[in-house]
Amino acid sequence: MFEIVAKELGDIPMTLEELKERTSNTILELYQAYADYEAIMPLTDEIVAAAAAFGLAASGSALGAVASDRKVQPIDTKGPSALKLSSQIGIIPGKSIEEKLALMDAMGFDGVELGGDIVGNEQKYRDALANAKVKVSAVCWGSHGGDLVSADPEKRKGGVAALKRVLESAGELKSTGVIFVPAFNGQTTLANQDIRKVLLDSLPDIGAHALRCGTRVILEPLNRGEAFFLRQLADAASICRDVKSDGVAMMGDFYHMGIEETSDLGAFISAGSYLHHVHLATTEGRVLPGQDGGKRSYVDGFRGLKIIGYQDYCSFECGVRGDRQTEIPKALQFLKDHWAQA
Ligand code: MG
Repeated sequence: MFEIVAKELGDIPMTLEELKERTSNTILELYQAYADYEAIMPLTDEIVAAAAAFGLAASGSALGAVASDRKVQPIDTKGPSALKLSSQIGIIPGKSIEEKLALMDAMGFDGVELGGDIVGNEQKYRDALANAKVKVSAVCWGSHGGDLVSADPEKRKGGVAALKRVLESAGELKSTGVIFVPAFNGQTTLANQDIRKVLLDSLPDIGAHALRCGTRVILEPLNRGEAFFLRQLADAASICRDVKSDGVAMMGDFYHMGIEETSDLGAFISAGSYLHHVHLATTEGRVLPGQDGGKRSYVDGFRGLKIIGYQDYCSFECGVRGDRQTEIPKALQFLKDHWAQA
């Protein structure tokens, strides 16, 4: 960890004077991540005050929040991060759920991501999972037509009920969460600020329901071609912060991040402990990692995951060029190599 941060910083700012000279959001965020992880260089009140004095508190950044509220930007310190690989079940070849899960076990996957069809089919999935080693990494649910952020209050009620229902099924299958997209383009007439307000009104109750089910809601930022609302990880994390429920979390998708984020590492650090799922794909072509000739690197993002002590799954959501039986193991190895380099 020391090497990772030291590489980013050049060296660790040990004194307040050095910090003043070199202050920037990225440096201070890394500094705090390093401090929390190593527990030997705590972010002192003096440093927080210095950050505020240098105008960072007004920047709207995660660090600005730190300067005004020390409880913000929690860093997960439950243990060292690990690369836990998963895939959406549809990508895996096989004639039945059982066949697909058996192949995933053989390929060395840790998790499987299921779809919204778990509702009403809980028993079928529970039986299949009973004989598999892979655990349910997440349930990819989507937006339910954008109903939860519709201009029509009745539609919103229906959307909330549908999300609560899938959370119950996800809890039964011990899924870490249910992936929720507030709205794809064209699914709501509400404007950005109104959608945020509607979510802040409804998510605390949905989050409480998720916790009772033993799972959580996972907000997914997309790229502007698919959704005008919620495009960056920091934005999703800020919604989680404002909702104040452990039942509401967020995720990052390397495909969308390649379009919307300036830094994979910075995006994951800004997500911090609100981050509970990751989707894997190339940005160009949205296929298996490595199938773009290695153009899309995961090293920078994985470095961010290591810094925040990420404990959850990274899951394929992509197309496959060529034979799945041979191409999927290649992608798994490609990602393990990038994790080792991070
Ligand atoms: Mg995705």
